Amino acid sequence: MTDATFTPRVFSGIKPSGGLTLGNYLGAIKRFVGMQGQMETLYCVVDLHAITVWQDPVELRHATREVAAGYLAAGLDPAQSILFNQARVSQHAELGWIFNCVARVGWMNRMTQFKDKAGANAEQVSLGLYAYPSLMAADILLYHATHVPVGEDQKQHVELTRDIAAKFNHDYKVDFFPQTIPVIDGPATRVMNLRDGTKKMSKSGESDMERINMRDDADTIAKKFKKAKTDPAALPDTLDELRDRPEARNLIDIYAALSDATPEAVITEFAGAGWGRFKPALADLAVDRLAPISNEMTRLMDDPAEIDRILTDGADRARAIAAPILSRTAEIVGLLR
Ligand code: ATP
Ligand code: MG
Repeated sequence: MTDATFTPRVFSGIKPSGGLTLGNYLGAIKRFVGMQGQMETLYCVVDLHAITVWQDPVELRHATREVAAGYLAAGLDPAQSILFNQARVSQHAELGWIFNCVARVGWMNRMTQFKDKAGANAEQVSLGLYAYPSLMAADILLYHATHVPVGEDQKQHVELTRDIAAKFNHDYKVDFFPQTIPVIDGPATRVMNLRDGTKKMSKSGESDMERINMRDDADTIAKKFKKAKTDPAALPDTLDELRDRPEARNLIDIYAALSDATPEAVITEFAGAGWGRFKPALADLAVDRLAPISNEMTRLMDDPAEIDRILTDGADRARAIAAPILSRTAEIVGLLR
């Protein structure tokens, strides 16, 4: 392997920590599909990250297959992309350990996601939750991935990945790991919580009413948008006027992302409309886009053995890329294997 020649390669992943949300679809999966075919693509179900908080073992297995079903149903093709789950490729954990020894405690202390997730309870959360970003760096760098499509909330973790790569290269006087580029584009890189426009929508959030799940039925989607927090004012003519109306801006951005339009075009179309007109239009659009994916997920989940077959095959292909990169890393570090 020649150091410092990096083939364009995409890596990204989603945790099986609950059912997939509209945030995961618009901020991640839909964009994963968009990159497929443009360069080599690897998409992972990151089960080792899910267990940084308690997961019931039966639910974890189910959620792992369900994220894979979401990938497939949304258009990821196992012939074009490598689809696998992280636990089947042990090199992730091994490189994660090496990176735990490269990353600095001070860097981890700056991670806002840890502060958000640990809250006032920082002494009681798992050590894994704290170290999570260095495992994420390993996920990416194990494949020398050059591009990582993620939502806005993951930007800081990809920046940390770049810091770990730079420190490793500097400490060992090599040019071995690339400077990965975070790909954060489009109108829905941060889909907000439907009940609080200052918080992001998350699959592990407290209330089901704050998120749209990819497998919600049409009535549930309509009800959740109807009850979504907004303000009494009608929609204005320009996005500028939505600056202090985060909930309204969020719904416009969701509409734009679902219809592949710009938020500017959506505000022009709905200028002057009240919520009584906009919310049902948004619900119809969401159902139109999500129902076929959700139906296909249900069909795929009826045959878990087929999902496992796809994930096992993907893991074999992922390992073929990962194993030589880990071996070379160990050699650089001075580990006898
Ligand atoms: P959890 O609550 O367990 O952290 P999550 O919904 O945040 O779950 P992750 O598995 O952490 O999902 O993230 C998977 C991908 O989805 C990441 O690329 C992340 O940036 C993206 N993502 C998550 N939530 C949103 C959101 N609200 N808007 C846009 N992208 C999102
Ligand atoms: Mg998250």
